[in-house]
Amino acid sequence: MRFQYLQPASLQEAFSLLAQHSPQAKVMAGGTDLLVAMKMQKLSPSVVIGLSQIPEMAGVAYDSSSKAIRIGALATHQEVSSSSAILEKFSHLAGAASLVGSRQVRNLGTTVGNICNASPSAETAPALLTVEAVVNIAGPTGTRQVAIGDFFTGPGRTVVGGDEIVTEVTIPDPEPNSAGAYIKLSPRRAMDLAVVGVAVFLSVRNGVCDKARVALGAVAPTPIRVPDAEAILSGEAVNDNLLEQAAQAAMKACRPISDVRSSAEYRREMVGVLVKRAIREALGRSRNQEGD
Ligand SMILES: Cc1cc2nc3c(=O)[nH]c(=O)nc-3n(C[C@H](O)[C@H](O)[C@H](O)COP(=O)(O)OP(=O)(O)OC[C@H]3O[C@@H](n4cnc5c(N)ncnc54)[C@H](O)[C@@H]3O)c2cc1C
Repeated sequence: MRFQYLQPASLQEAFSLLAQHSPQAKVMAGGTDLLVAMKMQKLSPSVVIGLSQIPEMAGVAYDSSSKAIRIGALATHQEVSSSSAILEKFSHLAGAASLVGSRQVRNLGTTVGNICNASPSAETAPALLTVEAVVNIAGPTGTRQVAIGDFFTGPGRTVVGGDEIVTEVTIPDPEPNSAGAYIKLSPRRAMDLAVVGVAVFLSVRNGVCDKARVALGAVAPTPIRVPDAEAILSGEAVNDNLLEQAAQAAMKACRPISDVRSSAEYRREMVGVLVKRAIREALGRSRNQEGD
């Protein structure tokens, strides 16, 4: 495997390198997906453009003027899982990032790289779907913002063009009394991809579920939201009957496949179990906040 490694010091330089070498070039953040794919000869770019020296893409920060959290494209899972702003507002996203691979992988792998790689089981994708994250994509002719719900187009595919780079993901402030839960089901307790991933984020007002968002990973060609489950919960005092209805809606919405890691039937069954569990957890946390 021979390739040229280039390290631009600015976004502008990265774009001109991409324009020069595309379509033989791939950009790289932590390299924990890209280098593995190259080693396995699934990809063989002749040029790899490392983003690590572009300072404006680093870090996680809360921007009080736009009231949003900004996750730079170089922010690692370790940074996301330990960010005080994310822990305070979106602890389920921090939790998802903390479940990626191993400490070594989390210290290198980025959350933006996780979504750009677009595996259906991408750990952080369901939580990002539930918080309505916005992906900022820059190209030679300017920047555009894409809602995370419109970002994934298929397994390994996104809306990012060959001459574009994702610079950051932003997450707007949550509604009052909001909380989430992320549950990963995997055969091994660590270093394993999700067989099913379920994220729920909801807010409560006077004990009633005000707004609910439910998302699934590893059970469809892309991570998905489940609007039917969300509609069942929103505006309701959630009881066992509604929990069951939401679980059924999620089981209906998913399109799992059978592979070496699990059968489609098991995945679908577990979607039902975990959606109920995640809603209960998120509801409990939101009600605690309201009671504070
Ligand atoms: C041992 C091991 C265990 C793992 N466990 C998990 C797990 O439990 N859960 C999980 O979800 N993943 C897991 N992964 C996969 C991987 O670590 C994550 O997907 C990681 O977040 C990828 O980020 P990265 O920065 O390393 O991406 P890279 O490998 O650098 O890039 C991945 C893809 O995204 C593109 N890309 C990266 N950044 C940008 C950008 N800013 N703009 C445009 N395109 C970009 C690259 O061109 C490439 O196609 C594991 C990997 C390994 C090696």
